[in-house]
Amino acid sequence: AAKSAGRNRLSYFTQALQESAQHRLRLINDLRGALSEMQLELHFQPIISLADRRVVKAEALLRWRHPERGMIRPDEFIPLAEETGLIIEIGDWVFRESARWAQRWTQDAHRKLQISVNMSPLQFQSENLIIDDWLNHLRKLGVAESAISIEITEGLLLNAHPEVIDRLLGFRDAGIQVAIDDFGTGYSALSYLKRFDIDYLKIDQSFISNLETEPNDLALSEAIVIMAHKLGLEVIAEGVETEAQCRRLREIGCDYGQGYLFSRPLPPESFERLLRQG
Ligand code: C2E
Ligand code: MG
Ligand code: MG
Ligand code: MG
Repeated sequence: AAKSAGRNRLSYFTQALQESAQHRLRLINDLRGALSEMQLELHFQPIISLADRRVVKAEALLRWRHPERGMIRPDEFIPLAEETGLIIEIGDWVFRESARWAQRWTQDAHRKLQISVNMSPLQFQSENLIIDDWLNHLRKLGVAESAISIEITEGLLLNAHPEVIDRLLGFRDAGIQVAIDDFGTGYSALSYLKRFDIDYLKIDQSFISNLETEPNDLALSEAIVIMAHKLGLEVIAEGVETEAQCRRLREIGCDYGQGYLFSRPLPPESFERLLRQG
């Protein structure tokens, strides 16, 4: 009896595995059509200047409106896009679409707004990343390079191949600013900050959420801000959810904040309304 119970448990296990593998396959298959079926959307989350609470930037965040499953978050499908190589095509769309919104939102010359675009390390490793095509696209739209920035993670810069470094410098040389996303969760080798002339550090949400209860998180955040400023970088705090966190961040001299306290990521129309309200 013990043996057959074991076998049963095993078959539940293999069945669950099979189901999740099938779920994955189906999702991958659907993802292939998502671009052409226009199921992908960008939402925009404001980034606020902590000194005066003005919206100065916005991060473009990808959403997949699946016809049966509803809204799927990027953490679920970006890894699949990376495994299948679809990230190249999707990333290309994200950049061009971000540029299109940047065009619309920076027409008013008084308004300084920068749209921040997440990039997968795989995009930098691909020969198909033609930065000149993107720069031409910006030029055609009449969008200044300074109206776009890119977000990369530290991992990209550690042991990066020369081609990867060239592509990164290609953005920098064109005047597109670079932010290190999720700073503090990786190796934080620091020496690359100066070497690659990075512009922004985004302190990872995991430090911000315990800012009041974990003295170490506060100390680390403050140390990051001091170091960044000494190197001529600016700092963005991710995942700011409370006024108390916001106050602390101002006290330690953090430049910008992003998080539910200010706004969730919004569909373009809602973001635009928020911009107009000032
Ligand atoms: P990320 O770049 O670190 O983006 C910040 C994430 O934190 C977003 O999740 C955002 O919705 C969430 N967030 C913002 N404020 C708060 C807050 O106050 N509290 C909490 N709990 N969360 C907050 P999202 O949109 O689900 O994106 C997850 C990740 O997917 C992103 O992390 C980024 O790594 C990746 N991603 C999103 N869009 C793209 C894209 O176009 N291309 C690539 N390659 N990756 C993307
Ligand atoms: Mg990001
Ligand atoms: Mg982040
Ligand atoms: Mg992240």
